[in-house]
Amino acid sequence: MKRVYLDNAATTALDKRVFEAMEPYLTGQYGNPSSIHANGREVRTAIEKARRKVAEILGAAPSEIFFTSGGTEAINTVLRGALEKHSIQHVITSPIEHHAVLHTLEYLKSAGHTQVHFVNLNDQGQFDLNHLEEMLKTYPRSLVSLMHANNEIGNIMDMDAVGDLCATYHAFFHCDTVQAIGHLPFNLSQQGVHAIAGSAHKFHGPKGTGFMYVDADHAISPLLIGGGQERNMRGGTENVYGIIGLASALELAYDEREQTIKHLLSLKKYAIKRLKSEIENVVFNGMSASADASLSKILSIGLPGLGENEMLLFNLDINGLSVSGGSACASGSNIGSHVLDAINVPSDMATIRISFSKFNTTDEIDFFVQNLKMIINDNY
Ligand code: PLP
Repeated sequence: MKRVYLDNAATTALDKRVFEAMEPYLTGQYGNPSSIHANGREVRTAIEKARRKVAEILGAAPSEIFFTSGGTEAINTVLRGALEKHSIQHVITSPIEHHAVLHTLEYLKSAGHTQVHFVNLNDQGQFDLNHLEEMLKTYPRSLVSLMHANNEIGNIMDMDAVGDLCATYHAFFHCDTVQAIGHLPFNLSQQGVHAIAGSAHKFHGPKGTGFMYVDADHAISPLLIGGGQERNMRGGTENVYGIIGLASALELAYDEREQTIKHLLSLKKYAIKRLKSEIENVVFNGMSASADASLSKILSIGLPGLGENEMLLFNLDINGLSVSGGSACASGSNIGSHVLDAINVPSDMATIRISFSKFNTTDEIDFFVQNLKMIINDNY
């Protein structure tokens, strides 16, 4: 049966070239990078080469890149490690952050480590930077954690504008860049951000491997303490093939970025056009229909009056379509999507997030639109 995967914000397919780069480290090159013998040394060399590659692509120093088990671990480490190291009392964040940020902050708040304040946003999900500045005036030297690109509605935030405000008020600026890495350009040494997080499986790399960037002048405390790996910032034997895969996937993503973005944008425009012509009253949540203000890979589709979207998603699935409600973690339903709630999406609006990759085609968009139309006509 035909199967179409339009859930690339949840995860992406491993690029075959990335698998080829990883393979030797899954088989022959199995040394522990901390061992001092030749088997260990050759693997250590490969990890340091991967680190240099990641640093070079993102405009950072190799000593500012730390490999982790993924985006969630990177975010936990930065939030907890920055609060501890810099004795920060206040965090400013937004209600549309990923749960890796929000649940970590809830925990830190309930444990009495910090107070948490939320920046206002409009119904398109755009942050109110005047409100952010007011809060920074009230709570200088706080930690600001605002995401670069939202995983449900694709909204892109102006990282440099937030960085400037953080510099003015001496705030530590963490930016969740998990969805943006591999899609948007970075030159971290020139940008006012102090820590970011990345996750390889969002850009055709392997799952369970990621990294954090921490600016050399804004060191943080480690989360995992053990054998002193990652220059004492992350104890535990390294996920060697994951790290090799991450660096390879990142290199491919940026080498091919221009053509990939062009392709993703043409898919998004095509999807919007087809949906508007075939589905009555269709709307697009947040800034997701915008070519500049949202990630080219994400389109959040609103279907007014259709109510809960569980049946819709179930029917799409049995017709061969992998799409999602809000985000993968929202259990396939927009009930409980804190992002859609925060931007006041009406409760009777069904929401489907489709997200594209370089492997999708316009035929697949046609297949999605035809099936969606048929399911709506048959059931509503
Ligand atoms: N932050 C954002 C914006 C995400 O979309 C995700 C994954 O969905 C994460 C963080 C967590 O990343 P990981 O799956 O690598 O833990």
